[in-house]
Amino acid sequence: MATQAPKTYEYQTETKRILDVVIHSLYKNKEIFVRELISNAADSIEKYRHLQLTSKTDLPSDNNALEINIDVSEESKSITIMDNGVGMTRDELIGNLGTIAHSGSNDFIKKLEESKGDPAQLIGQFGLGFYSAFMVSENVKFITRSYLPESEGLIWESNGESKYTISREESIDRGARIVLQLDEKNEELANVDKIKSIIKEYSNFVSYPIKVNGEQVNAIQAIWKKRSTDIEDTEYNEFYKFLTNAYTDPKFRMHITTDAPIQMNTLVFIPEENVEKFGFSRTEPGVNLYCNKILIESGVKEILPDYLRFIKGVVDSEDLPLNIARETLQDNRIIGKIKKFLTKRIIKFLQSEAKDSPEKYIEFWKEFGNYVKEGVHSDFDNKTELAKLLRYETSKSDEGTFKSLDDYVAEMKESQKDIYYIFGESRKEIDHSPYLEMFRSADIEVLYLYDPIDDFVLSSLLEFDGKNIVSSDKADIDLSGKEGAKDVEGEKDKKSDEKDITKFVNWLKKIHKDNLSDVKLSTRLVDSPAILVNPDDQMTTHMQKIMQASQSGYSVGNKVLEINPDNIIIKNLVKLWKKDKKDNVLLLAVDQLIDNTFLLAGLHVDTRTMVDRINELMGKSIGSK
Ligand code: ADP
Repeated sequence: MATQAPKTYEYQTETKRILDVVIHSLYKNKEIFVRELISNAADSIEKYRHLQLTSKTDLPSDNNALEINIDVSEESKSITIMDNGVGMTRDELIGNLGTIAHSGSNDFIKKLEESKGDPAQLIGQFGLGFYSAFMVSENVKFITRSYLPESEGLIWESNGESKYTISREESIDRGARIVLQLDEKNEELANVDKIKSIIKEYSNFVSYPIKVNGEQVNAIQAIWKKRSTDIEDTEYNEFYKFLTNAYTDPKFRMHITTDAPIQMNTLVFIPEENVEKFGFSRTEPGVNLYCNKILIESGVKEILPDYLRFIKGVVDSEDLPLNIARETLQDNRIIGKIKKFLTKRIIKFLQSEAKDSPEKYIEFWKEFGNYVKEGVHSDFDNKTELAKLLRYETSKSDEGTFKSLDDYVAEMKESQKDIYYIFGESRKEIDHSPYLEMFRSADIEVLYLYDPIDDFVLSSLLEFDGKNIVSSDKADIDLSGKEGAKDVEGEKDKKSDEKDITKFVNWLKKIHKDNLSDVKLSTRLVDSPAILVNPDDQMTTHMQKIMQASQSGYSVGNKVLEINPDNIIIKNLVKLWKKDKKDNVLLLAVDQLIDNTFLLAGLHVDTRTMVDRINELMGKSIGSK
């Protein structure tokens, strides 16, 4: 046996920290190391099988079946996990086990240190995989030979502290053999029955035989190929948990078999929770692609649009060429067809769930509503159907209850032509908004939007069921039975106070021509003295604000000021103005009135100037007491 002196290497700093956390802080669910190591072994075998199917040069065929063998030695307190997959070269050992490529690993450490969430779940999500071996072992050997021609047999060894060694060892077959020497606290894991039961719980659906001390333990079955009537709920749920490392049952599942236009078995799930919500990095696509039970690729991004990345499951089509190269998935015609078909089916499925189980659907909406919104914004072909899945609170709904656009349209008044919405930080803010006044007095329902992306979503939708979708801050809204805001120009035959207000408006227009594009008499206001409306047809003020924040030099455009002639402040200002157009209080109050409308529209005002002005006004009014 030609064994060479071991060479010592240092772990990358990040890896050291992770190892430290794994070894010293994770006490619960230690048995997940079995799942993690088996999953690595199965991946490696899968890679080998894929190479056998696709590579041009023949891989040396040994007559061994592709399988995972586990040896549990109660005597030596060790567990050995063997696979005959692709194995690793020295560089791969260093790259894969000595460093952490995972971009989220810093997040992971932070989350653990803040002790948010269950560490075992976190491990699953971050795929810490191999390192979980150190939760139970005082020493780990990774003995391997790569499938590549002329690869060396290697022994990687570490006790999980700062260093590891690699030495050569010729008498090693292709694949990997991981030897865990259990530490004192975990010796009881060296028990055949215990390991078998862990495998049944976590790894039952692995698609290669898993043998423990020679005896096969897992079921190996492609459940998605079975008839749904032959599958119990618990079996579906177990499969889902196996697939996603989840601890909870899925919220929805969809199991369909079709023969036309494409032969396809699909079993997909929607999780209970949206993990992106916890501030984890973006969810990776979660659908695995099979051709007649043989895995082509897991987490295929070409099979569903990006906004459906929260969907987990399996798509199996016999119409796909087995040796399809991963790189060409995107251009494959059949994949394109599957994607189109599946997207529509999932949307239809959600629509029917919304109808049949509205409460459950709302729970889904609260978790995953943002993905639906992303879809309305980005999926041109399906946006109308996706729009039926949107849910909003409205001026006529109770807090926390939601309506669909279909509900809204069904309850529209006969004279109402458009669908209206208003954006605000909260229900309370919107309820008191001057923008709502005219809708309230006309008894017209308004959708409440709280999420910054909603504005973009509804604007990109433009219309629903043949009705325009209109922002409540838009100028010239015509609620039937009411005229729009009045232009004052050319109105000559007026009673004297009407003439006065007309002149006042013209004066305002002149002195504020730099920051207002127009001033009008409002017909929409009931209580408030003035309001700023948006003459832009494309963008709401709120959208313009977002653009301004992200693009330097972007201007939100001049707005139209509407004033309410029946409001006492306006009446008094007109009186003052008639007496003396240069009156200091008049000028201060007008400026403040306009700043107030900017603030209510969510636009920027110069705070310093405003505070000075308010102080001056306060000084005057207090002084006059
Ligand atoms: P992950 O599996 O999430 O990538 P791991 O730390 O478990 O993270 O493994 C890191 C890498 O090491 C794997 O991506 C794979 O390339 C390699 N690896 C792990 N186990 C094996 C194995 N049994 N055979 C071949 N390669 C392996």
